[in-house]
Amino acid sequence: MYGKFQKYLQDELKAIDEAGLYKRERMICSPQGAEITLADGSKALNFCANNYLGLADSPRLVEAAKKAMDNRGYGMSSVRFICGQMDLHRELEKAIAKYFHTDDAILYAACFDANGGVFEPLLTDDDAIISDSLNHASIIDGVRLCKAVRYRYANADMDELEKCLQEAQAQRFRIIVTDGVFSMDGNVAPLDKICDLAEKYDAMVMVDESHSAGVVGPTGHGVAEQFGCYGRVDIHTGTLGKAFGGAVGGFTTGRQEIIDMLRQRSRPYLFSNSIPPMIAGAGIELFKILEESNALHDKLVKNVEYFREAMLAAGFDIKPTQSAICAVMLYDAPLSQKFAAEIAKEGIFVTGFYYPVVPKGQARIRVQLSAAHEKEHLDKAIAAFIKVGKNLGVIK
Ligand SMILES: *Cc1c(COP(=O)(O)O)cnc(C)c1O
Repeated sequence: MYGKFQKYLQDELKAIDEAGLYKRERMICSPQGAEITLADGSKALNFCANNYLGLADSPRLVEAAKKAMDNRGYGMSSVRFICGQMDLHRELEKAIAKYFHTDDAILYAACFDANGGVFEPLLTDDDAIISDSLNHASIIDGVRLCKAVRYRYANADMDELEKCLQEAQAQRFRIIVTDGVFSMDGNVAPLDKICDLAEKYDAMVMVDESHSAGVVGPTGHGVAEQFGCYGRVDIHTGTLGKAFGGAVGGFTTGRQEIIDMLRQRSRPYLFSNSIPPMIAGAGIELFKILEESNALHDKLVKNVEYFREAMLAAGFDIKPTQSAICAVMLYDAPLSQKFAAEIAKEGIFVTGFYYPVVPKGQARIRVQLSAAHEKEHLDKAIAAFIKVGKNLGVIK
């Protein structure tokens, strides 16, 4: 049997490669940070990580992880409802709930699992899920696993959301679900308006804070903080894999009964291993770092402003970002790949995105700023953008 299937896979893989869509991975041989070292010993500045607060190589987090490992060993070898949890897991859940001003939280191996396991235990075919068209793949998959009636509105389009809500009056319960920050444009979901509509049409609200937590809002606590929506959001999901240290792990945080029900019924929680003690220990330390000082978030905000201003002054077409994601618009797909390759030769890593990841004719370079970047890193990146932009005729 495998012979035929192998031929099929080989043809498919070849087609992916010929379409220029084959994903190849760089080999990094240093800690994740503003500057990384590659397998061949060359160095590059990293502008494509989700390391928003620059904590991926934080000595304090490394130390906390080591301490937890020394005290509690390496792994859990079980799910929580069978063998039990450690105090570290519970302490981390409480820290997450405190950070988001919610009742409680539940940990998952990843935010992909948090989103995959949030809808099915709570809603049935009597209910409705109303989802933004640009929501993350894990939300889309989570919705697919649930029998609720599905509605979809164009990205951040409040008129379309309202129409969906009107139609969804036919169902018993309704939930609106949105990313906090959309990862391709860097725009923020209009959460105040979403909450207003939710109240008008008797719906719940869920926000995925993966790209917004640690980044948006006056002190970086996410979109609920930014729009003053504490208490109006029923469910937040998020990841420990981006601003929050960048290792691995996800969570759902929100109303008490919702979290209690997820602990009883959420399949990725019930049937998948607990996060290891070192991740829980480092996570607890992470929230201490964020509580002690807002310096990292302040630096991130300054870096985004500095980079954006310089790029606009140089004549680049930049999406009006509200986050740490800066989309440099090139529109043409081959140009976006050429640009990313040329600027990599200058020692700057960014990603070129094109259809189907972004709409047709909307190809771009995505730049992700970080508190790990120093002014000289930003200046080097800006100079490289200007050099490559001129060479490729993108700017004058
Ligand atoms: C990155 C991301 C996830 C996945 O997070 P993991 O913890 O890496 O699984 C989920 N949702 C959104 C919006 C994301 O950006």
